[in-house]
Order: sequence, then structure tokens, then C-alpha cells
Amino acid sequence: MLHRWRCRTLGPALAGLVFCAFALAGQVRAANVATPEPLDPLDQIERVRTLDHPLFLRMLTQIHDQAARLTAAQQWHLRYLDAWQSAFQGDTVKANAMLQDVIDHSGDNALAAKATALLMNNLGLSGRYEDAFTLANRLASDLPNIKDNLARFTVLANLSQLMTFSGQDDLGVKYAKMMEDSLPPGESLCNPLSMQVSALEDSHRIASSSPLFAQAIDTCLSAGQPVFANTMQLLRANLYMVEDQPAKALELFTRIAPSIEANRYFYHQRAVQAGFALAYERLGDDNNARKAALAVVSMSDKPDVNLWLRDAYKVLYKIEQRRGNAVAALAYYEQYVAQDKGYLDDVSARNIAYASVQQHLLAQRLEAEGLSKQNSILRLQQQLDTKAVETSRLYIALLLVVVISIGLWLLRIKRSQLRFQMLSRRDGLTGIYNHQHFVTEAERVLRSLERKAGGACLISIDLDHFKQINDTHGHAVGDEVLRHTVALCQRQLRPTDLFGRLGGEEFGILLPECTREQGMAVAGRVRSAIESSPVQAEGVVVTFSASIGVACTDTFGYGLSRLRREADAALYRAKRTGRNRVIADMENDGLISV
Ligand code: GH3
Ligand code: MG
Ligand code: MG
Repeated sequence: MLHRWRCRTLGPALAGLVFCAFALAGQVRAANVATPEPLDPLDQIERVRTLDHPLFLRMLTQIHDQAARLTAAQQWHLRYLDAWQSAFQGDTVKANAMLQDVIDHSGDNALAAKATALLMNNLGLSGRYEDAFTLANRLASDLPNIKDNLARFTVLANLSQLMTFSGQDDLGVKYAKMMEDSLPPGESLCNPLSMQVSALEDSHRIASSSPLFAQAIDTCLSAGQPVFANTMQLLRANLYMVEDQPAKALELFTRIAPSIEANRYFYHQRAVQAGFALAYERLGDDNNARKAALAVVSMSDKPDVNLWLRDAYKVLYKIEQRRGNAVAALAYYEQYVAQDKGYLDDVSARNIAYASVQQHLLAQRLEAEGLSKQNSILRLQQQLDTKAVETSRLYIALLLVVVISIGLWLLRIKRSQLRFQMLSRRDGLTGIYNHQHFVTEAERVLRSLERKAGGACLISIDLDHFKQINDTHGHAVGDEVLRHTVALCQRQLRPTDLFGRLGGEEFGILLPECTREQGMAVAGRVRSAIESSPVQAEGVVVTFSASIGVACTDTFGYGLSRLRREADAALYRAKRTGRNRVIADMENDGLISV
């Protein structure tokens, strides 16, 4: 029987009594309470599992043959029943694997809750307390999502039981009270009340005289659940013993013994015998006490460890001691100590496991809280970062606008600077170098030529009778003549030659890297071009000429002033000797002319 197997593992704590009675009450209730037959075949099979186990097995085999016709939900329900059957047979490994599968993959909350409750029990009963409490925590946190009343009721009952079993009596009471709000159809308050009493009794917070006892016992009896009623009576009798009223305890044990015998619930049978042993021993009836204690021992398998055996051996050892049977007393005493230690070890293992799981959970919560704080800091930081990025982008954009504006502004300034520079260096009428710039540039070039001993010639040009042109044709024509002269000269020059307007109708040309002969040739071509290229302006054709003086570095060195002086002197000689000619920087007038 499932309940027997459970209780052997759980030990006979009174909480365990309730637990076992609950399992048995399922049978009794199923037999006594008329409930409408459920339509689903799987529900029908589940209903008979404790009522008629052989029938359950036959139905299970049958439904397996028709498995192909079952819906997905029914397949999962069948898997749960298979798991239940495996657990019933004691194969918890197989059962737990199937239950885990149902929990993880069925997608049916109610079924998963029942599976979890069963898995939790299996784990607790096989001593895997930590795993059981871990599941209990999960079930407790899932409770608000479990809407199916039967599943909720089952989960709460199992939670209450496990909490009481592990010394967490407050939680045991709490879950038991919650059961009252989730009563499935056809269910009475017997279970919830019994569980409450059990939890309260475990923590010594209920007296035998408490009205809750009477209420629970009456409720269970009228609901057709004598096993639960007997559990309450056993708890009450136990309290009489604690309250040092062995006669009352004996009276109660005696009163409920026939009902316990009739229901044949093995653990109650053992509990009532242990009760008799303790009560008789306390009342000095060693014979009856010994008889009852030996009955408890005879009902237990050898490796069993439970409170009833402990009490039985204690009674036996006391009696043998009183009778002076030292050897027998010692043997019973050893058994008693083994039982006591075994039971206490188990209790402390449960309590340690519970505490450890709670600690772990607390640590997880703290970690989760820490993480969520860390997350919100990160989120805030990200928001700030985003804002900072946006702000930075804005700054960058503004900065770019400013930089570009400054750049454009600088460019404009530079251009106008260059324009002014150019204007300041150029002659306004003709566009060639003005006097000042020509002098500056010519000095620079001459210095450079001097370093590499290159030759250069300076040409001085003065238009002939220019005043007359002005006077005859007007200033505008005179200007045109000046521009025309510049254009004619430029055609004869290289890009490296310097060309400037030195006065009204006077021009200077510096020919770098140039021999005297080359200089004379250029000057000659310029003169000839001017002579043969009259100006057409304002309807008149003006023919004009120029006098040219040439001075070269080979004779006068690289000083610009000297060169200019000599070129001007030559020019002067050209004027003097008839104009429209080129004179070089030689001593005698007209010695070399073109
Ligand atoms: P010469 O043959 O001896 O050189 O006689 P010239 O008339 O050319 O010499 P002069 O120095 O007497 O006259 C130069 C004239 O050039 C005087 C001046 O009015 C004129 N002139 C100076 N600058 C300009 C100018 O920019 N435009 C015009 N149209 N005339 C100018
Ligand atoms: Mg002149
Ligand atoms: Mg002149």
C-alpha cells in the first residue's frame, strides 16, 4: 500500500499519521461519498487508484491499448497515472522521471501541480529533503496560478504536511487554513482541520481540551472519514500523556481501539499499541504495558526507525530494569537509544535541509534583488549614455557648424587677404607688378642668382612722346596704349621673367638666367613689337614706339639700384639718340643699339 510505504519512510511522527491517514482517507471518501461520475476515462481511472487498486491496474492496461486514440492532454494524464503507479510500486526513480516530464512538458497547470506535489512527496519520503523543500518553495510560489480546486487542494495538503513534517508548523497551519478556501466539490473541512490540528500539536500549541479537536473530530466523523477522526483522537490521547493524564489517555486509547481495528489502518494500529504501552507503564500496569510494547515491536520490520518503536523499547527497558533483568534491560535500552538517535537524526536532517533550502532561496532573492538593482543602474546609465550621446551629437553638430563657419570665414578672409595682397602688389591699370613689388621681387631673384652666379639683364622701357598721345587722343586712349604695351611685352617673356610698371609710361623687366645677348634680343623684340603694333581705340589708330635701356649683371653685378641706374642711363641715351631704340649699358652713346 502506498500509504504504508510512505509512513515507513517518513517515520511515525504524528504529522506523518495525518499524512498517511490522508492517503487512506482518499479510499474511504471515494467509497463513501457519492460524487457524479466524471466523463473523462482518465479521471475515472485516477478515482479508483486507491479505492480498488487491481481494478486501477486493469483499467490502466486497457487505456494503454487505446493510447493512440487519446488526446494530447489525456496522454499526459496517463503519463501522470503511470508515474503514480511506479511510485506506488516503490520505483521512485522511474516515477520521478515521468513526473518531471509531466511538469516540464504537459502544459497543463493543474496536472503539473499534482505531479509536482507527488514528486515533492517522493523526494521527501526517500530522504531527499533538500530537493523536496526546493519543490515545496516552487509549489508555494506557483500557488496563485493554480486555479483548479482539486489540484490546489492537493498541493496545499502536501505543502502543509511537508511543512509540519519539517518543523515549520506555522506554515503547516497556514497551508491547512488555505485549504478551507479551495475545497473541491464533495470535500469536507475534515482534511484542513486535521492538518491544522496536526501542525498545532507538533508545535505544542494545542491542548487536549481545545475546541478545535472536537470540531475536527466531529467534522471528520460526519464526513464519513473515521480514519481522520482516529488520527485526531490519537493526537489528543498523546496530549493527555504529555499533560500527565495517563488515565484519560488510556480511556481514550481504549475507546478508539475498536474503530482502529475495524479500519485496519496499520499505522494507527501500531500507534494505539504504543499509546497503550506508555499509558499502562505510567499507570504501573507493567504486564499490559509489556504486552502492548511487544505488539508494537512485532508489527515493525527490523530496520525500521520510528517514534512508536522508540516508545515501545523505552517501556520494555524500564520494565526489565524494574524487574532486575539487567541483560534484557540493556538490550532494550540499546534498541531504544538506536531508535531515539535514528529518529532525531532524521528530524535534524529534515530541519537542516529546510534551513539550507531557505538560505539558498534567500541568497537567490538577495542576488536577484542585487541584480535587479544593478540592472536598473545599468539601465539608468544606458539612458544617461543615450542622453549623453544625443547631447554630444548636438554639441558635435554645433561644433561642426561653428568650425565650418569659422573655416568659411577664414577662407573668405584669406581670399580677400590674397586679393588685397595681389592688389597691393599689382598695378591697377595693367595688372603687372607695381613698382614696389617689382623692386622686392627683383632683389630677391638677384640675390638668388648671385648665390649660383647666374646671369640676368634688366630692361628699362619708356614710351616715346606719350604725353603727346594723351594730349592728342585723351587719357583713355593713353591707358589703352599702356595696356597694349604690357600685352606686347608679355608675349616676349618667360614665366620666370619679372615685369613691372615702374612709373606712368615706364616699365621694367628682369630676365633671370639670361646672357647679355639674350637680354638684348628680348629688348629688341619688345621694341619691334611695339613699333609694329599700333593701338586701335575709340576709332583711332595710334602708332607709338618705345625707347629701351638694358643693363646686365655681368658688368654691374647683382645690385638692383646699380642695374636700374645703368639701364635708365642707357634708356636716357636711347631717348637722346632719337628714341625707338635699344641701348645697352655701355660707355659710349649708341655703341650698341638695336
Ligand atoms: P619722352 O618721349 O621724352 O618720354 O616724352 P613723353 O611725353 O613720353 O614724356 P613725359 O614724361 O613728358 O610724359 C609722360 C606722360 O605720361 C605724362 C603723363 O600725363 C602721362 N601719364 C602718366 N601716367 C599716365 C596714365 O596712367 N595714363 C595716361 N593716359 N597718361 C599717363
Ligand atoms: Mg617717361
Ligand atoms: Mg616717355
